[in-house]
Amino acid sequence: MENKITSSNFIKNIVIEDLESGNYKEIITRFPPEPNGYLHIGHAKSIVLNFELADEFKGRTNLRFDDTNPTKEDTEYVESIKEDVEWLGFDWEELHFASNYFEEMYNRAVLLIKNGKAYVDDLTPEEMREYRGTLTQPGKESPYRNRTVEENLDLFERMRKGEFKDGEKVLRAKIDMASPNITMRDPAIYRIAHASHHNTGDKWCIYPMYDFAHPLEDAIEGVTHSICTLEFEDHRPLYDWVIRECEMESKPKQIEFARLNITNTVMSKRKLKQLVDENFVDGWDDPRMPTIAGLRRKGFTPEAMRNFCRAIGVAKANSTVDAQMLEHFVREDLEHKAPKVMAVLRPIKVIITNYPENQVEMLEVPYHQDALELGNRQIPFSREIYIDSEDFMEDPPKKYFRLFPGNEVRLKEAYFVKCNEVIKDQNGNVVELHCTYDPETKSGSGFTGRKVKGTIHWVDAKNAVPAEIRLYEPLILNEETDEDKTFLDQVNPNSLEVLQGFVEPSMKNAKAHDKFQFIRQGYFNVDPKYTNDDKIVFNRIVSLKSSFKVNK
Ligand code: ATP
Ligand code: MG
Repeated sequence: MENKITSSNFIKNIVIEDLESGNYKEIITRFPPEPNGYLHIGHAKSIVLNFELADEFKGRTNLRFDDTNPTKEDTEYVESIKEDVEWLGFDWEELHFASNYFEEMYNRAVLLIKNGKAYVDDLTPEEMREYRGTLTQPGKESPYRNRTVEENLDLFERMRKGEFKDGEKVLRAKIDMASPNITMRDPAIYRIAHASHHNTGDKWCIYPMYDFAHPLEDAIEGVTHSICTLEFEDHRPLYDWVIRECEMESKPKQIEFARLNITNTVMSKRKLKQLVDENFVDGWDDPRMPTIAGLRRKGFTPEAMRNFCRAIGVAKANSTVDAQMLEHFVREDLEHKAPKVMAVLRPIKVIITNYPENQVEMLEVPYHQDALELGNRQIPFSREIYIDSEDFMEDPPKKYFRLFPGNEVRLKEAYFVKCNEVIKDQNGNVVELHCTYDPETKSGSGFTGRKVKGTIHWVDAKNAVPAEIRLYEPLILNEETDEDKTFLDQVNPNSLEVLQGFVEPSMKNAKAHDKFQFIRQGYFNVDPKYTNDDKIVFNRIVSLKSSFKVNK
């Protein structure tokens, strides 16, 4: 069930105040990804927050590609981001590219120069770092800081014309080298980069820096509340400075919130790209990736992801959410939606020696006892079946209620069977079990004789559909350390297990993204990448149970 109204949070309170005081007449937000990778679940938090906040107050949300860095951006990422936002269930009002504002941004930079608020600096990047000072020491003014307006205008124009090499000059805001906030110590606002841009091609060889570009983008679009993550808190005075000094008509307000972190998960496009580029995973949509594309391929639903994003809330302090919480929401969403079927992951053959040789019985069974609208299917039963090897032990401990020599169990939806003989190969591995069944004990027949303690699932050997089944464990073993160098050492070598099993015949025509509950095994999704006419592949989305409880 989807709970559409998010509870109150500090950003909502700011918006309510701003509307009541008349600071803003309507609410316009934006989701501003840089197209330098696929979106991850952290972005989903920002998407849900921005879109639902505007929606609740009858406002609008734009999708804007923050494409001001030509070297890392790509149209493949632009397309994937659009697909992911739509799949999550959100419609943007306007679609924008920051690169479409380059001319206006250039003009605003010229305005700053004319007003004596920006200058061209020739310091090398190393010198700039030296001059910047530290948290405890003020910075030092660059010897180029007092160039005349004319000289600055001339140099900036020549930067644009391509007369200088990368790094040779930058345009800096002229603010305060002694500011206690290092961000305000004459930040660079334009740099030279002779690089082709995915949108503007070779038109530009100077590009605006994020801190200069972002407020302008917001103001140009009339965004009212510019929501970003906590690391930009110190940049807020600069954000406001740019809006004011560039004489922007519209005055957006920057608000910071804590980014989402999840246990055993790396959440940075740069690191995720490394996992892809170095073949730790099979692409951005590998089901082990925390990308929206990866979670979708694994089998997560948009409803589950939205509910998760609402439940984690919006706070001002960083924290880490347990990965099991994400799983809780997909389980909850699929509980009454996914047909419940039988699948055998690690097959072992069972011959029912007293069952007639050529007989096949069709058992009519509902897909879900608590969701009868899902309908019924027919399950064939005959002399040879498969059960999961985990449901048999030759020499079981006490309180083992599944199959073992001499013990009787119920085959779900069918009969009681008793194990009489264990057949092994030369190496002593169990290859086949010989059982007998009791025709009196058919499921639904009202049989009230003796009882058995175990019920196990099975599939009919002749009619079952072979299937590849993929089980996943966390891709990252330990909590992420902040040392970038070591996260690849934490990659789990056993994060994927590929099994060759069987599913009941009702799944013969299952299509990509169909979702099922395999009784006793978990929720599974038909993999869209590897499933084809000859082969069906299932990804385990989650197992059935977890120890994790969500307070509601
Ligand atoms: P990354 O470090 O993963 O590349 P980013 O912040 O650089 O993330 P952007 O493309 O700039 O990625 O992000 C677009 C929007 O998504 C921004 O508003 C950003 O604040 C938000 N966002 C990114 N990561 C998270 C996260 N983990 N939790 C919440 N919001 C996030
Ligand atoms: Mg980034």
